[in-house]
Amino acid sequence: MSAILPGAAIGLLGGGQLGRMTGLAARSLGYDVHVLDPDPACPARAIASRTVTAPFTDAAAAADLARGVDVVTLEIEQIGADALAAVSAIAPLRPPAEAVIVIQDRLRQREWLDSHGFPVGPWHAARSAAEATAAVTALGRSVLKKPVGGYDGRGQARVGSAGEAAAAWESLGGGPALVEQFLDLELECSVLVARRTDGAMTTYAPALNHHEAGVLDWSTWPAALPPEASHAAMRIAEGIAEGLEIVGLIAVEMFLVRDGRVLVNELAPRPHNSYHHSERTASTSQFEQFVRAICGLPLGSVDVVRPGAIANLLGDLWQDGRAPDWEAALGIPDVRLHLYGKASARPGRKMGHLSAVADTVEEAREKVLAARTRLVRPAR
Ligand code: ADP
Ligand code: MG
Repeated sequence: MSAILPGAAIGLLGGGQLGRMTGLAARSLGYDVHVLDPDPACPARAIASRTVTAPFTDAAAAADLARGVDVVTLEIEQIGADALAAVSAIAPLRPPAEAVIVIQDRLRQREWLDSHGFPVGPWHAARSAAEATAAVTALGRSVLKKPVGGYDGRGQARVGSAGEAAAAWESLGGGPALVEQFLDLELECSVLVARRTDGAMTTYAPALNHHEAGVLDWSTWPAALPPEASHAAMRIAEGIAEGLEIVGLIAVEMFLVRDGRVLVNELAPRPHNSYHHSERTASTSQFEQFVRAICGLPLGSVDVVRPGAIANLLGDLWQDGRAPDWEAALGIPDVRLHLYGKASARPGRKMGHLSAVADTVEEAREKVLAARTRLVRPAR
């Protein structure tokens, strides 16, 4: 396998914050970065020497991106199949289109996990209101998920009993839905694996993730899990990376349920919000590792340099058009601010995050949460 060396150009399908931070790491390593995104003012624009403005279903635009670069990757899984095929015909697409196509549809992803023997919670597919009712009758308290396009808890409906199932199914637009039993969670964690075309892999220790209303709120690393759970989670993630022949990164979101089982929640073939701390906590950040993996460079060490935490900054923090109080937050030693350069702050929109390192994850978490509290200005 010949490496794609610094000086070459990387094409990114998607120019959101993940593309921006990947692009910054690529630039540090001496690569050029081109981006395709529907939004001409996307966060990665700032680090791209060329931006193709087009929807993710535009195969001609994707081909145009691919022609100008040496390798193409993605920071969002919702890329049209035709666009993925168009790229693959011109430049190496890493991860491969087949893996992205399995992952981008929650039902297909769930079928793949189940049929390949990876542990998931009880689930059904519902293609009608009657099937949704039958599924919730069988599963009890459930969550219905749209197979495509949902993120940060959007495109989901929680139901307590079968009587609510039909309305919940309709509320998701009346298409096929993944119905999952609502699990009694001890905690949520994620594992990130980097893999190269020759099969070489590195696996980051699990991160501990806390969600509010379906959105990641804070994350700490390394997670203090029972050793068996940590081991199981890492082996599961590696098995998935191999099974899908991932080249690049795969993040596996997992549930530790109260009875002790480790179950897979969902997959992301790209950098993940729960490893943003790695820019400070790990020998090699997830973004640098991503670039190394897709370019065939030696993978870096995933050792812990220092325990750390991140807390997300949603658009809700911008009140009455006023920016949060950055100076107050940055007054806490060891806290850093990471903003994504998004022009408009909408409620629920991920605008940035705070990170901190400390002697323990608990201390790091306290620092980012205290810093985030300081962002809120007193009401006028
Ligand atoms: P998203 O793509 O929005 O991240 P997820 O499927 O990961 O969608 O769901 C978001 C969050 O909702 C999860 O991290 C978890 O907190 C909660 N959740 C999702 N599915 C279940 C479930 N079956 N049981 C319990 N909680 C769930
Ligand atoms: Mg998720």
